[in-house]
Amino acid sequence: MKVTDYFEQAQGETLVSFEILPPLKGGSMQAIFDVLDPLMEFKPPFIDVTYHREEFIYQKKDSGYYEKVAIRKRPGTVGICAALMHRYGVDAVPHLICGGFTREDTENALIDLNFLNINNVLAIRGDARKFDGQFVPEEGGHHFALDLVKQIKNMNRGAYLDTTIEDGEKTNFCIGIAGYPEKHFESPNANEDLRYLKMKVDAGADYIVTQMFFDNRKYFDFVDKCRKMDIHVPIVPGLKPITRTHQISGLPRIFHIELPDTLINELSKAGSTKAVREIGVEWCIQQSKELKAAGAPCLHYYTMGESDTTKRIVESIY
Ligand code: FAD
Repeated sequence: MKVTDYFEQAQGETLVSFEILPPLKGGSMQAIFDVLDPLMEFKPPFIDVTYHREEFIYQKKDSGYYEKVAIRKRPGTVGICAALMHRYGVDAVPHLICGGFTREDTENALIDLNFLNINNVLAIRGDARKFDGQFVPEEGGHHFALDLVKQIKNMNRGAYLDTTIEDGEKTNFCIGIAGYPEKHFESPNANEDLRYLKMKVDAGADYIVTQMFFDNRKYFDFVDKCRKMDIHVPIVPGLKPITRTHQISGLPRIFHIELPDTLINELSKAGSTKAVREIGVEWCIQQSKELKAAGAPCLHYYTMGESDTTKRIVESIY
């Protein structure tokens, strides 16, 4: 079933969903099950599976030459999605990125997903690789998520890259996209970012999932601005509790978000990692309660490999 059908079916009730990160190469599927097993009692209708490009480093060999070596490779999403659907009977939402994919690669991935009866995708650009500095698309690949949305939408109309295909199978993908309550960091200002967000929606995106935020006011303002710009698709808040001390500086640096003063004040008084986690979890519970009371379509938790804190939060909401 499509993610947007779940929202309609819920008739204003706030759903809950989770995002999982595939293990690094060499890890096992059991690691994902270990995260999700304790969370399935909350009956998430869908689970997102992220996708990541590998990073490269240059390693000096005995010969003195340097060799380019791929590191931090995570497996693709298709197999993981199939395993989740089989084990839990939920809909899996694979993330599809522009980076590292030609248009043909993207089409082939979508064909595989369609054959597996996976009808939802989150269409995103992907981040720049560290050694590139800025986002560099694959030759023959997409520069922006907007172009990816257009390609998926074309396949939903039965139009494939090979224009000699007549009466091609019409796929039926529900398309999610990313939105940024605190604006995407590369965007010169929030209005410009919203203009591109609207282009993605006008091109056929069905719903938006936000970057994590720690001040609900930012989400509410973002939703207001979207509605004023005639963006009327569901906007799902993405949530992540602070659970470790290094995240106090790490999350703002990596995700280009701000932590509110009150939260920083509380965290600065925490004397231990355990205390940081307690404050982080309590903060996320309060955020979740307020978002639910305000009628958010779904609370989407970035598990980042941790189920115990996510479980505590969802338990106190549902
Ligand atoms: P885009 O919508 O393409 O926007 C990128 C930038 O370009 C923005 O500044 C935008 O304003 C601007 N822009 C957009 N369209 C145009 C245009 N036509 N012309 C000029 N400028 C334009 N990353 C991963 O690698 N894997 C994941 O699984 C993953 N999942 C994510 C899930 C969510 C919910 C979110 C919020 C982010 C996720 N990311 C993931 C991170 C994401 O890939 C990065 O934030 C990336 O830098 C931008 O992706 P986007 O889809 O928002 O890009």
